[in-house]
Amino acid sequence: TQTLHIVGGGMAGSEAAWQAANMGVQVVIHEMRPKVKTFAHQTGNLGEMVCSNSFRSDDDEQNAVGLLHWEMRAANGLIMATADKHRLPAGGALAVDREPFAQTVTENLQRHPNISVSYEEVTTLPDDGHWIFATGPLTSSALGQAIQAETGAEALAFFDAIAPILYADSIDMSQAWMQSRYDKGETEEEQTAYLNCPMTKDQYEAFIDALLAAEKTEFHEGETAGYFDGCLPIEVMAERGRETLRFGPMKPVGLTNAHKPDEKAYAVVQLRRDNKLATLFNIVGFQTKMKYGAQTQVLRMIPGLRDAQFARLGGIHRNTFLNSPTLLDAQMRLKTKPNIRFAGQITGVEGYVESSAMGLLAGRMAAAEILGQDLPEVPQDSAMGALIHHITGGAEAKTFQPMNVNFGLFRPVDGLKGGRRGRKDRYKAYTDRAKTVWSEWIRSFT
Ligand code: FAD
Repeated sequence: TQTLHIVGGGMAGSEAAWQAANMGVQVVIHEMRPKVKTFAHQTGNLGEMVCSNSFRSDDDEQNAVGLLHWEMRAANGLIMATADKHRLPAGGALAVDREPFAQTVTENLQRHPNISVSYEEVTTLPDDGHWIFATGPLTSSALGQAIQAETGAEALAFFDAIAPILYADSIDMSQAWMQSRYDKGETEEEQTAYLNCPMTKDQYEAFIDALLAAEKTEFHEGETAGYFDGCLPIEVMAERGRETLRFGPMKPVGLTNAHKPDEKAYAVVQLRRDNKLATLFNIVGFQTKMKYGAQTQVLRMIPGLRDAQFARLGGIHRNTFLNSPTLLDAQMRLKTKPNIRFAGQITGVEGYVESSAMGLLAGRMAAAEILGQDLPEVPQDSAMGALIHHITGGAEAKTFQPMNVNFGLFRPVDGLKGGRRGRKDRYKAYTDRAKTVWSEWIRSFT
């Protein structure tokens, strides 16, 4: 049969379905929610964002994630188009209103004449038919076992952490003030996307003490305690050194206390608007595995948050991913069972944007295969190409860990200056080159 089956309707599965269906292929999405839940997803929507509401930087000239946005837009990506539609002001970042975002993704897929959605858990890797598995970091355990049985490799599990979300009206605005770092953002709305809570040296030291002493959730036996590096829990950062937070998410730079313009804060906690109504704010970079009781106590020590009411506390979670460099071919097919592709976070990329990107590629590749079209190799000098090349071969298999897109994955451009001074030119050269080769690749489909 020529139907494409996609297991998992998250970031990657939704994008894969959209791309394949638009190429004229019949698609069935198999999604286990809402029948079978995960601890992080809260709805039965396709394309649900489980944690932060940000797709990160939208700068497509100086930032590799922004470049990935550009490439997905150029490929008529559903996730990007929907993100643009439900965009919230957040300076240079692409933040979205998560509920309407996921609702729109769901409606677009359900309405598509070539797509049907089957709400069920898939627990085996079928021997025939065309399949994409995009079951994400919280792949159901039955399916996880089936994958392990097939690959023989360890499906690694490790933890990352959710940042707490609180109600705006519980923030004390006589202490906090509104300002985006370095006043980034054009409109007033953008400049008011962030709230800041200042700390004196004494307050900071007391906060670090409390953080270190707080009760944390323990890891389950046999599970490794690796974190994804952009998402380290604050208590782990504090354990690495008392100053680490002050140079990380709590850095006091680019901000002036509106209440006390002459006083330089020793550290600043930033809150970012989490919905369009501006009723919810998340604490930027404050992923944590502190136990709930301890968490509220410690977070309420932050000036301005003494009476904070939390809409959602931080938590810990599992992340399932394959050793892709050994298991997958250049088209993300399982080498031992090429009728099966993987896509999204389970392939060892990290983040909404990267996961959607790998869904986009998998969807197009699977559709081309079904339609008997020859597909030129994804250009390695595009952000898409740099990423897929990394996970399916560029990365060291032995030490393989999930990867964010970054310019470190790109092949150098000749004749450019190195070092700090040359960096802007270099990034611009990478992004110019990527846009050219990616546009050519997209044109090869029509
Ligand atoms: P998902 O979006 O999770 O989609 C997978 C889908 O497969 C789900 O809908 C699931 O219900 C379904 N599924 C699973 N097993 C089966 C089965 N057997 N049968 C049928 N359906 C199945 N990334 C960020 O960029 N920013 C963040 O802040 C962030 N925070 C995170 C917080 C948590 C708690 C977790 C777990 C992950 C976080 N991530 C974050 C990673 C984020 O989940 C991924 O980047 C992104 O959602 C991955 O997309 P995906 O499509 O691969 O997986």
